Order: sequence, then C-alpha cells, then structure tokens
Amino acid sequence: MKEHVQYDVKEQIAEVQIAAEHWTPQRALTWAFETFGNRVAISSAFGAEGMVLIDMASRVRSDFRLFTIDTEFLFPETYTLMDRIEEKYGIAIEKVYSVLSPEEQERTQGAALWARDPDLCCNLRKVEPLRRKLSELSAWITSIRRDQTSTRSSTRRIEWDAKFGLVKVNPMVDWTTKQVWRYIHDHDVPYNELHNQDYPSIGCTHCTRAVRPGEDPRAGRWPGFAKTECGLHIIEPVAGTPVPDASKAAKFGD
Ligand code: SF4
Repeated sequence: MKEHVQYDVKEQIAEVQIAAEHWTPQRALTWAFETFGNRVAISSAFGAEGMVLIDMASRVRSDFRLFTIDTEFLFPETYTLMDRIEEKYGIAIEKVYSVLSPEEQERTQGAALWARDPDLCCNLRKVEPLRRKLSELSAWITSIRRDQTSTRSSTRRIEWDAKFGLVKVNPMVDWTTKQVWRYIHDHDVPYNELHNQDYPSIGCTHCTRAVRPGEDPRAGRWPGFAKTECGLHIIEPVAGTPVPDASKAAKFGD
C-alpha cells in the first residue's frame, strides 16, 4: 500500500463501503488503483465477467496487475485466451501454481484426487496458491457477482476479507449476465471459446462439463458433488476480526 495512506485500512473501508454500493465498476477500480497502487491485483479465471473486468481495468490503468491460479488442469481454450489477453492488453499475467505438480499430487495423494476429495484437491491447487499470492498484496479485485451462487449473494462491492486478511474489491457485484454479455459485444472483448459450447462457467477439465438446456449456469461445475465453490470466495469471519460496519456484519458471509 502507498506510504501516503496514513490511516488504518479497515477504517477506510468503513468510510467508503456504503457509498461504494452505488459506484460503477470503473469507479471501484479507480478507487482500488489509487488507494493501493502496486499492492492491488486482479484475480481472474477468465470467465465472461472476468473478461469485462480486465477490459475495464485496462481503460483505467494500462499497467494493472493481473494474476491467475493455474491448477495445471485448465482447458486448452483457457490457455489460448490467456495468450490473447497478454497480447491485446500488453500485460504479463502472473501465474500462480500449486507447490505440487500434478505428478507429485498423484504420487502423494493417489490418482484422480478430484474425483474422491475435490475439496482437498481445490485446497492444494487453488486455495494454498491463492493464500501465498495474497500474502504479498494489500487488496485483491475479483469479478464475482451476487447472482452467481447463494454464497455470493451477500457480497459487498468493497469488503474486508477475513479469510485471507486483506481488502477485497468486487466491482461487478451487482451486474447481471445480460449486462456482462452486452459489454463484451459492445467492446469486442475476447472470451473463452467454450462459452459458445454451453460452458457458462469454466474451471478445471476434470470438474467442468457443459450444461443442458434449463440447468443452472453453474450446474456444470463439480457435477456429482454438492460443491459449488472452490473455496476462494467463501469468507469465513474469524473471532476478533473487526467488521467495518457492525450493522452489516451478517453481510460478510458467515
Ligand atoms: S476444480 Fe477439480 S481439478 Fe481443479 S483443483 Fe478443484 S477439484 Fe482439483
């Protein structure tokens, strides 16, 4: 965080949080970049809303930081999209990996861990790498939206992320799928080819399938399991963690 930011970050959140609910995504991005400088980065798995966020960020600050958790189990189409992003926006995506290669994971945990214990697999390949990455930042920016899952329905545009101990900025929290796709088409934003093949939500190859007509857009994630989240966006308040606005404590997702 910039040195000129003199006051405690949680106080700062409390000051802006309510007003931020009325901000545009661009206003939230501007606030994040001005407040945290080089200690804020966008986290993305390059879904449709993530692509909108990246395009918006490029118009606010050309040298924004962008990282992704590369589980090494992603679709070829996703890797192709990463190359297109680097070329179009002139940035280098910061790729974060598990400490275990896929081969080491198989050796230590057995074959096809994702089919037996997807929570452990996600912890090894997503949550631990994310925790490591976030430890070098003061804030992170995501493209999560309230209407994606029930666990995301109470997300604030700006919030204290008690799970990882930093500020979390969610500029697109109140956007709809329709708005996302309108922006993509209006601004000629690149997107994952799999979206044209009935994959509205895209993760690892082992845990993502196309959805059938009428199914929930996230029905194709972890099919066969009750799991709907990889654990990156579930905020778990810890005892003694200050909440910026006590009257809104329930909104922090317990
Ligand atoms: S989405 Fe599946 S393969 Fe990817 S890390 Fe989670 S459990 Fe493992």
